[in-house]
Amino acid sequence: MSVLAVLEQRGGKWNRVSFETLAAAQQIAVEWGVPATAAVLGSGVGALAVDLAGKRLETVYAVEHELLADYTPDGYAVALRQLLDRVKPTLALFPHTYQVRDFLPKLAASLGRSAVCDAIALRLEGGQPVLVRRIFQGRLNADVRFAGDGPHLASLQAGAWRADWVAEGVARIESFAPEIAPAVIRTRPGEIFRESRREVDLSAAESIVAVGRGIGDAGNIELARRLAGLLGAELAASRPICDAGWLPMERQVGSSGQTVAPKLYLALGISGAIQHLVGMRGARTVVAINKDPDAPIFEVADYGIVGDLFQVAPELIEALRKSKPAS
Ligand SMILES: Cc1cc2nc3c(=O)[nH]c(=O)nc-3n(C[C@H](O)[C@H](O)[C@H](O)COP(=O)(O)OP(=O)(O)OC[C@H]3O[C@@H](n4cnc5c(N)ncnc54)[C@H](O)[C@@H]3O)c2cc1C
Repeated sequence: MSVLAVLEQRGGKWNRVSFETLAAAQQIAVEWGVPATAAVLGSGVGALAVDLAGKRLETVYAVEHELLADYTPDGYAVALRQLLDRVKPTLALFPHTYQVRDFLPKLAASLGRSAVCDAIALRLEGGQPVLVRRIFQGRLNADVRFAGDGPHLASLQAGAWRADWVAEGVARIESFAPEIAPAVIRTRPGEIFRESRREVDLSAAESIVAVGRGIGDAGNIELARRLAGLLGAELAASRPICDAGWLPMERQVGSSGQTVAPKLYLALGISGAIQHLVGMRGARTVVAINKDPDAPIFEVADYGIVGDLFQVAPELIEALRKSKPAS
């Protein structure tokens, strides 16, 4: 029995969500009393495997093949199937990235197993893994159990675990060379589509000041911007603010925006609709300012201030200014 985390890289660079998956794998392996292992696929992944050898893992599998140099669903599914046959993990965890969404169903079908996608929590019950998935647009949480034997496959939502929970250690590296016939790869990778450069990567922000409809008017966002500046925080918003064009779409947090996990999330005039909460629940400390004492945001807030943000925010700004040494 073991838990395998399959990490994602492109061009020798990690997709950082992979480390959240690694943290989840380590956690559940400790609880289960089984070894945690990890795998990285590609061509020339030696340096990445060495990176992983410094984590608390039993084995790091460096899955190498020249036909894995570029991602293809066929190549990845074939290689992973062989790896799973070799390692026989009870549970294989993946980050819920676009790439994983692309090949995981194919891998699961080729193994005759099901894959549970976009899980937000994982626990053991009666010695068996139980995953939690959001359904009905985040209104309900569903517990999902696997039927039959492993390997069980699951992908984990970005922001649901923290990359800084990964435990350091020493792991041995094992090279694994899958057999991939060129004919099995039916797609030829094209030029990589480049997304328009994001002004901000909210998922990497340490602190966020987020504004909601309570801000009242586009001109008032300046107040939040000043507060964010003093806190060294990024500015974010609920959907109505971005829909109104008061802030760009890339600053929207929630089910149809970004998922964030900062150390501090300061919510100004945000009610806490479920579609917003799913994007910021991973924040370590949530501070909410809202004039409605029954606003749902207070259910997830560590510190709640019931009050008018136009009174509270200027006082916070003043207090922060005073606490900063004069330059
Ligand atoms: C399919 C779908 C996807 C969605 N995706 C997202 C998403 O990704 N992100 C998202 O945010 N929403 C999303 N929504 C919208 C979501 O349902 C809510 O409508 C939205 O989050 C509400 O935004 P809000 O909290 O800013 O506004 P409101 O719900 O209008 O809340 C404003 C809050 O401000 C408070 N307030 C007002 N004045 C003040 C003041 N002076 N001082 C202090 N507090 C004040 C009020 O008490 C209230 O609680 C989605 C909806 C759907 C149907």
